[in-house]
Amino acid sequence: MKKKILYLWALLSLLLSLTACSTNENTTSITDTQFKFNTVMTITLYGYNDQAIFNEIWALFDKMENSYSANLVDSNISKFNNSTSLEPIEMPADIVEMVALSNAYSLKSQGAFDLTVEPVVKLWGISTETPRVPTQAEIQRALPHVNYASVIADRDKSTLTKLDPNVHIDLGGIAKGYAADETAAFLKDKGIEHAIINLGGNIYALGTKAKDTPWNVGIQSPIIGATGDLMGTVKASDKSIVTSGSYERYFEQDGKTYHHILNPDTGYPVENTLISVSIISDRSVEGDILSTTAFSLGLDEGRNLINTLDNIAAIFITKSHEVYFAGDLTLLETFELSEGDFQLKE
Ligand code: ADP
Ligand code: MG
Repeated sequence: MKKKILYLWALLSLLLSLTACSTNENTTSITDTQFKFNTVMTITLYGYNDQAIFNEIWALFDKMENSYSANLVDSNISKFNNSTSLEPIEMPADIVEMVALSNAYSLKSQGAFDLTVEPVVKLWGISTETPRVPTQAEIQRALPHVNYASVIADRDKSTLTKLDPNVHIDLGGIAKGYAADETAAFLKDKGIEHAIINLGGNIYALGTKAKDTPWNVGIQSPIIGATGDLMGTVKASDKSIVTSGSYERYFEQDGKTYHHILNPDTGYPVENTLISVSIISDRSVEGDILSTTAFSLGLDEGRNLINTLDNIAAIFITKSHEVYFAGDLTLLETFELSEGDFQLKE
C-alpha cells in the first residue's frame, strides 16, 4: 500500500518535473525526480539549465544501486552476502568505506547501528510488498549472525573479511547518505554551486540559495498522515539534513504498527519515546548513520552520543511531540519551529 503510494507520488513528480524549469530569485532552476533506492529522489539545480545532466546523475545512481542493493543478485553486496569464505573479499572502495564508517559508529553506539542486521531486515520485509511479523523462532535463528564485529573492513586493501561465514550486510541505513555526498561532489565537479539534493528525506543543501543567502531547509513532520507538512525549518549551506523516524516505513498487523528501524539485540522494531531524529552535518553519510543510530539509542543515550561529536547537531522528536536539541547548537541557531504541533524543550 505504502509502496503503491510512493510509486504514484514518484509518477506525479515525474510528470511535474517534465515542465519544471522555473525562475527563482533571478536564477534559473531545473529539477528532476526519479524512484531509485526504493524511494523518491528529487534534485534541483540553480543557475544551470541543461536538463541532460540528469541522465548522468541518474546513471550514477543506477551504478550505485546495482552495486549496493542486497536485493539484486548481481550486486557487490549480494556477492559478499552469498560468500561463506573467511578469506578477505575484494570490494569496491565505496562499499569498504561505508562498512568502515558504519563499524566505527557501531562501536560508539554499542551496536545500536549495525549493518549486519540484514537477516532480520529480510525477515520483516518492511520495505517490500509483503511485510510480516516473523516468528520468535525465525528471529532466534537470525540473531546469532547479527554482529558488526564479524565484518572487518580494510580500506588500504579494499577488502571486507567475514569472521562469521553466515554474516550478511544491508546498506539501507547508510547508502542514501553516501549517495547524497557523491551527488554533491559530482555537481561541484561540474561547476554547479547551488543545488538541493533530496533523496527520500536525505537532504543535502549545496552552496547557497543566492549570494550570501543560505538555503532554508524544511524538516518533515514525523506525525503520521502529515506527509508534506514541516515541523520546522533551518538555514543551511553546504550541509546535510537527514531524518529517520518510525513514521517513514511501517506496516500494521492486528492493530499494531511495526516500523523499519530494528533493534539489533532483539530483532524487533526499536521501541522508545522517539518518533524521529534529524541530523545536521557536513557529510550526509554520517547524517544517515547517525539519524538511524540516535533513533535506535533513544532520547537520552542518543543525545549523549551526539554531544560527544564535533560539527554535528540533532533534533529529537518524541511521541508526545516534544522537541529536543543536541550537539553543536550553533548549527541550530536559525531553526524555526512550525506553529501548532510541537513544543521545544531544553
Ligand atoms: P530510511 O531508509 O527511511 O532513510 P534509515 O536511514 O533510518 O531509514 O535506515 C533504515 C534502514 O536501515 C532499514 O530499512 C534497514 O534496511 C536498515 N536498518 C534497520 N535497522 C538498522 C540498524 N539498527 N542498524 C543499521 N541499519 C538498520
Ligand atoms: Mg539512516
